[in-house]
Amino acid sequence: MSNYLELLENIVTRTIAPQAADTDREARYPRQALDALGAAGLLGLVSSKDIGGLGLGLAEAVQVVERIARDCPSTAMVLTMHYAGTVLIEKYGQEDVRRAIAAGRHVTTLAWSEAGSRSHFWAPVSTAVADGAEHVLLDARKSMVTSAQQADSYVWSSRPVAAEGPSTLWLVDSKLPGLSAPQAFDGMGLRGNASAPVKAEKVRVPLTARLGADGAGGDIMNGDELPVFCTLIGTASLGLMDGVLERATQHITATQFAENSSGLADLPTIRAYLARARIRADQARCLRDDTLAALAAGRPDAMLRVLEVKASAGEAALEVTDAAMRICGGAAFRKDLGVERLFRDSRAASVMGPTSDVLYDFIGRALCGMPLA
Ligand SMILES: Cc1cc2nc3c(=O)[nH]c(=O)nc-3n(C[C@H](O)[C@H](O)[C@H](O)COP(=O)(O)OP(=O)(O)OC[C@H]3O[C@@H](n4cnc5c(N)ncnc54)[C@H](O)[C@@H]3O)c2cc1C
Repeated sequence: MSNYLELLENIVTRTIAPQAADTDREARYPRQALDALGAAGLLGLVSSKDIGGLGLGLAEAVQVVERIARDCPSTAMVLTMHYAGTVLIEKYGQEDVRRAIAAGRHVTTLAWSEAGSRSHFWAPVSTAVADGAEHVLLDARKSMVTSAQQADSYVWSSRPVAAEGPSTLWLVDSKLPGLSAPQAFDGMGLRGNASAPVKAEKVRVPLTARLGADGAGGDIMNGDELPVFCTLIGTASLGLMDGVLERATQHITATQFAENSSGLADLPTIRAYLARARIRADQARCLRDDTLAALAAGRPDAMLRVLEVKASAGEAALEVTDAAMRICGGAAFRKDLGVERLFRDSRAASVMGPTSDVLYDFIGRALCGMPLA
């Protein structure tokens, strides 16, 4: 096992897994886990070696996210958003923030979804207005930001200042005056990830905080971000499916009917549900692995795979956690099994932008030779 995976296993077994139920029950942000991940270098996993990071890539990031999601999808999603933001900061951001991320001292996230654009994050309605020659003022109603007020920075979308194009991206210090999170996150699932709305009122940001050119947000979202984001969210669903099937298997192999001492696992119906769920999860994993292979080889079908991977794994997670609830029966309603937590957590991926329905439309368009939007 690679060194970083050994470090990760330690953090999961000592900190993340033991706290997962409380993280969910109390909607508690996993700060201790992030501190441990930072100290182990794992917040800087995709940061370049020359600024102190581990210099690894998407193939390694999926291993980390997948392992954490088996026990705590909330923490896995916080890390997913951190890696998703970091790849853009690495390419377009300033060195001081890059170094802070590499050193494990800085958590970032994406602030793209808005009350106006809803899940269509590629078409923000929030604004960036020039304030003198060196600054802009940001105004926005971001609808759900993972790590809201907990992250050190937001990778932020707005309409362009002056250029053509759908959007412009910024790196916004989360402590700037004018930023507020009017309500805490009290969600159905992923309750630990602080996915609250964030409001911006005349937030003054230097032009040097712009990520890429004015108006280039759409190209950056599609070219640089979508492969990372879709693969990592899909991967979080994969880890979650493994976690729920482990828990369901443990339950049915340990539970007996007193009348004849047979177990739940002796029922062919229950075993068949388990088998079907395993096949569904493994199908999604094969597609994820092929997505990574397509991206690594620069295959012509890589973008189609990217669109498929999030929809496939997100929908599979809905089916697999549904099956796990049925397999475990009434016992699954109890919190101690951990099955109902993963069932609730699984609901998020399919409605996170790009949602499964949007992806189906994009994939259908791609197959028909039509432009995506
Ligand atoms: C736990 C959690 C964490 C999140 N974290 C972040 C984050 O860190 N950063 C961030 O920017 N956002 C985040 N989001 C927001 C997320 O990405 C989506 O923007 C949000 O979930 C969309 O919700 P909505 O009510 O606006 O959906 P709507 O856009 O109103 O969609 C409602 C329904 O309509 C469907 N629909 C919408 N458009 C189309 C279409 N064109 N074709 C077919 N069907 C369509 C959708 O699939 C959905 O079923 C998070 C969301 C959740 C649940």
